[in-house]
Amino acid sequence: MMITTLPLIGITVHPDDDPDRANLDRLLAQIVQGVERAGGAPVLVPLGLSETTLRGLFARLDGLLFTGGGDMDPALYGAEPHPALGGVSGERDRTELALARWVAAAGKPAFGICRGAQLFNVAFGGTLYRDISEHPGALRHAYGAEAESALRPHAVQIEEETTLARLVGRPALEVNSLHHQALRQVAPALRVAARAPDGLVEAVELIGHPFALAVQWHPECLPDLPEQRRLFEGLVAAARLTGA
Ligand code: MN
Repeated sequence: MMITTLPLIGITVHPDDDPDRANLDRLLAQIVQGVERAGGAPVLVPLGLSETTLRGLFARLDGLLFTGGGDMDPALYGAEPHPALGGVSGERDRTELALARWVAAAGKPAFGICRGAQLFNVAFGGTLYRDISEHPGALRHAYGAEAESALRPHAVQIEEETTLARLVGRPALEVNSLHHQALRQVAPALRVAARAPDGLVEAVELIGHPFALAVQWHPECLPDLPEQRRLFEGLVAAARLTGA
């Protein structure tokens, strides 16, 4: 086994024309900081690369971080458009779906944030609530930028014997919540690692993979909380151990 002391962590990006760009730029900057503080070297993965270039870049990366952003095209999970959809980018969907499937095939460490959890689910055959109003009895999950760190509106209950449980070392966490979509039918390749009190999935992990975890909240906005920093540290630690 080869030990990489400064693992390269590929970080996916939103398109320049995303309607929520100002907020996403700020979240991306916090993610870059989170990766660096955890001991990784952040590498932004641009959109628009050929599959050959993307594959070559993927092969050089030690881990992947899938960031938050706009909604995935519902056609990818067999659903019709919905009035609440926003920020759909075919190029982003194509890029991230390829990376997520390569992560699974290669056993390469990966961490997903918000859209990243939805991406994992769609990549492996699951479906989404196009808007959380489609979930009976849903709590409010869609808070604005003002709530990134100031408000943790709901708890998540963490499933035992998951990577998430091992990292945070607690049965529950209070989290922020900036999402209007959520997982609906969970893909068979994934296991649920945490749920909100209304039953919505808040974290998933790829079964049988060394480290592929995605959460629905935004740990990058909560760097003062050790249990949130541990999510970044877990990714970097897993990426440091690259197959020889
Ligand atoms: Mn939530």
